[in-house]
Amino acid sequence: MKQIPKSEDEWKKKLTKEQYIVLREKATEMPFTGKLLHNKEKGKYICAACGSELFSSGTKFDSGTGWPSFDSANMENVELKKDFSHGMMRTEVICKKCKGHLGHLFNDGPTETGKRFCINSCSLDFRKK
Ligand code: FE
Repeated sequence: MKQIPKSEDEWKKKLTKEQYIVLREKATEMPFTGKLLHNKEKGKYICAACGSELFSSGTKFDSGTGWPSFDSANMENVELKKDFSHGMMRTEVICKKCKGHLGHLFNDGPTETGKRFCINSCSLDFRKK
C-alpha cells in the first residue's frame, strides 16, 4: 500500500504535473489523450495517487467521450459528492482513501446500471490480472 502524502508539497513531488492538477486541483485532462482510454486488458484500475482499487476491467466501456468510462465502481473505495462548479450540477467521483479527484458520474450510461463514471486516465493506474 502506498503512503499518502500529508502536504501539497509532498503531493507535487509524488505526482506528475498533469496528475497533480487533476487529482489535487480537480482539473480535467484533455479528452482522447489518456493512456488507459483504449485499454481493454483484464485487470484492476487503481488510484494513481494511493493505489486503492477503484474500478475493474469488466465494467469499462467506450463512451466516445475521450475519457475512460465505467458503468460501476468499487463503492467501498469511491466517494460521491455534489459538484456545483462551472455553472453545472454534477456528481464528483473521489478516491475515498486519498480524497483525490477522479472524474464525474453521469446517469446516462448505456448499460443496465445506467451509470457512466467518466474518469481521468491520469488519475488511474492499471494492474493487469
Ligand atoms: Fe487515492
